[in-house]
Amino acid sequence: MSWLAEYVRPKIRTWLGRRDVPDNLWTQCPNCQQMLFSRDLERNLKVCTSCGFHLRPGAAERLAYTFDGFDPDGGTPGAFTRIELPRAPLDPLRFRDSKKYVDRLKEARERTGLDDAILVAHGSIGGHRAVVAAMAFEFMAGSMGAAVGEAIVAAARLAVLQGAPLIVFTASGGARTQEGAISLMQMPRTTIAAGMVKGAGLPFITVLTDPTTGGVTASFAMLGDIQIAEPGALIGFAGARVIEQTVREKLPDGFQRAEYLHEHGILDMVVKREDMNATLARLIGLLTRPHAESAAA
Ligand SMILES: [Zn+2]
Repeated sequence: MSWLAEYVRPKIRTWLGRRDVPDNLWTQCPNCQQMLFSRDLERNLKVCTSCGFHLRPGAAERLAYTFDGFDPDGGTPGAFTRIELPRAPLDPLRFRDSKKYVDRLKEARERTGLDDAILVAHGSIGGHRAVVAAMAFEFMAGSMGAAVGEAIVAAARLAVLQGAPLIVFTASGGARTQEGAISLMQMPRTTIAAGMVKGAGLPFITVLTDPTTGGVTASFAMLGDIQIAEPGALIGFAGARVIEQTVREKLPDGFQRAEYLHEHGILDMVVKREDMNATLARLIGLLTRPHAESAAA
């Protein structure tokens, strides 16, 4: 080992005190390249304070932003109760590419502290009871395997049980390759889950965040009674390059972005992150009022 590595680096670490200087003090905005003070970025719900670009929060942060009681200045998360999700079979196909699937899962679990690519919680939004499922892009690109399918079904059951709307924040690269046909089976399963909520006369609202693609787009993500997206979110089934090669045509600017899809009638609304709680509260109020009144009558 060199003198630099052996002596100088540990010394510098000692002087600086490793804990006092986190390496994530600054974050660069991927859109305008501005260096942002991470604490300001957190306070601004991971939206660039310079250009308004919506960065990707983790699933836990998403829950914290969505429920009532969230105070970014005081660092207080919204109040919610997470539910334990059903266990899915681990690596049913004994899949291996350059790495074993079980090792990929283990690594993702250690890195994120999550069991799989989704969290489900219940609490209130604008005073209305609500069940929220948040997909975790940070866990194997939010890919949908049996665990995510099970979680969506569990969330739908909970919504029906509570007589509450189900809101799903999607963030996904699509089906989980390592689970083969089992991951594809989650498309009809989650479609049925959405149907359960609607069948009970409860609102099913999807919020499509960056990115929402593949099998998730092709199933429950597009079945919302109201389809919302965050600004700039990439939403599509196949990638733009694949489509261009297939249709042999140049695609329009902003194709597969939230704003373009909103203009073309695929989405109902594009809502900024800071307005999401209030917008969801208003929608739930509008969509559930008749039930509340008939219950009171
Ligand atoms: Zn920016």
